Amino acid sequence: MRYQWILFDADETLFHFDAFKGLQLMFSRQQYQFSSDEYQYYQSINLPLWQQYQQGEISAQQLQVNRFTPWADKLGQTAGALNSAFMQAMADICTPLPGAAELITSLKGRVNMGIITNGFTELQQIRLERTGFADVFSPLVISEQVGLAKPDVGIFNHAFALMGHPPKQHILMVGDNPHADIQGGINAGIDTCWLNRHGAARPQGITPKHEVSSLLQLQQWLAG
Ligand SMILES: [Mg+2]
Repeated sequence: MRYQWILFDADETLFHFDAFKGLQLMFSRQQYQFSSDEYQYYQSINLPLWQQYQQGEISAQQLQVNRFTPWADKLGQTAGALNSAFMQAMADICTPLPGAAELITSLKGRVNMGIITNGFTELQQIRLERTGFADVFSPLVISEQVGLAKPDVGIFNHAFALMGHPPKQHILMVGDNPHADIQGGINAGIDTCWLNRHGAARPQGITPKHEVSSLLQLQQWLAG
């Protein structure tokens, strides 16, 4: 294989991230029924906050707290506590994406694998342990801990240092988010593979080196 290193995104690249299901579970534990209308309202707050976070305008802490403020007021809890309960619920419902376990098994011992995620610390280790992937990925680079989010080149440079600065032509970044994962990999000067499971159009100005529609297709490409 031409790559010595494969860096993966986590959410919706290796793991399902069904936020609505997680929110419903979290709120049901608070005896509160969370409707799909409320989910739309939540996303109207959450998605712009994610954009601001990925542009380096707000911190992970601000994102985690601000998105739960309306419900914190309603339920008489802190937004931080609701966010922690949400991370716990997401860990409880976590499942690998189709083909993830097979891909990892096929790559183990052939290539080094790491993770660069813009997700939050509370969820990462517990999810790797529950899915049996805890020993596979090193480094595990979490934007909340580094203080920089993909697509900032800084979080990639942080990972490269932990990897001992391998030649960039031997590193591949795989992810589902063109703006964070693919643009980030391009910024960092490494090859990129866009996992485009839902047949989305390529955003203008972002050209991945490779594109696959499933993890099985990625496995087949890397085996070839
Ligand atoms: Mg993702």
